[in-house]
Amino acid sequence: MMKKKISVVVPSYNEEGNIQVLASKLVSVLKTLPYEYEVIFVDDGSSDGTLDKLKTLGDLDPNLFYLELSRNFGHQNALKAGYDYADGDCIISMDGDMQHPPDLIPQFIQKWEEGYDVVYTTREYQDEATIFKTKSSDLFYKMINSLSDTKLEKGTADFRLIDRKVANVLVSMNENGIFMRGLIKWLGFKQYAIHYTAEARFSGKSKYTLKKMLRFAIQGITAFSVRPLYLATGMGFFFSALATLYIPYILISYYSGHVVSGWTSILATVVFFGGVQLTVLGIIGTYLGKLFMQAKQRPNYIIRSTNLQRINDLIKL
Ligand code: UDP
Ligand code: MG
Repeated sequence: MMKKKISVVVPSYNEEGNIQVLASKLVSVLKTLPYEYEVIFVDDGSSDGTLDKLKTLGDLDPNLFYLELSRNFGHQNALKAGYDYADGDCIISMDGDMQHPPDLIPQFIQKWEEGYDVVYTTREYQDEATIFKTKSSDLFYKMINSLSDTKLEKGTADFRLIDRKVANVLVSMNENGIFMRGLIKWLGFKQYAIHYTAEARFSGKSKYTLKKMLRFAIQGITAFSVRPLYLATGMGFFFSALATLYIPYILISYYSGHVVSGWTSILATVVFFGGVQLTVLGIIGTYLGKLFMQAKQRPNYIIRSTNLQRINDLIKL
């Protein structure tokens, strides 16, 4: 009987200090399992020695592969690239900085063999994680869950196993602005959660700056919910109602000859409604922008080179 195959996908952006350690750790875990395996590192336009390290690894070990993207497309797109070209019976995705312990892989596989289609993880931070990161992450999940129908557990990470049939669905989807952890939750199937504690990064520093985290949060919310638009409508109704009550009061004041000298109140109203209108326009604009990006049908990523023969055959690089 043919052995089943595990694919491991690792988006890597400037991870030269981590690649080697992660690769050898991964191999030591994977080779104890009764499966064939491949590890695909997706080099997301790194500007350090990541790609060179990956090429060397690929030459030394026939199970290790790299996929070089033409520039930095971002973590989520790099992940999609890996999912699109991995051909295992299941695909495991993890970060390239040793924050996702390879030791959990046998547990993933066990659950998969029990019949689960998705085995995902939720992370607890170690004490050394900054309060800021912990709190902002909490807030992020609270917001997503209150604004969207796709509920995410706190700390859901891109460290998971998906079955081939789930991967096939993902491959067939070409939406822009991917928010993978939400998308996979949305897909359904039989899902199982494993909790783990995130280690500190082995080397280098986090690529998620405050700006990237904010963008990621907006992405996560607007990719999954149009509720902010309803919210905008609701706000509009609410303030129109207030105004409707306020107008008779003005008229009565006027006819009773008791005209208010209220410069302050006028200014306050103008400033306030100006703010509300800008907010609502911003929300609408965000969705319009997403439509615009999707309408252009641009790919989520572009491959520059790879040592995976089946891709080279496919796209004739
Ligand atoms: N990453 C990527 N492209 C990017 C940013 C990050 O491929 O533009 C990769 C990065 O190399 C790592 C994973 O995504 O393997 C998660 O990034 P990071 O560790 O910086 O995020 P954090 O763990 O701090 O949330
Ligand atoms: Mg990390």
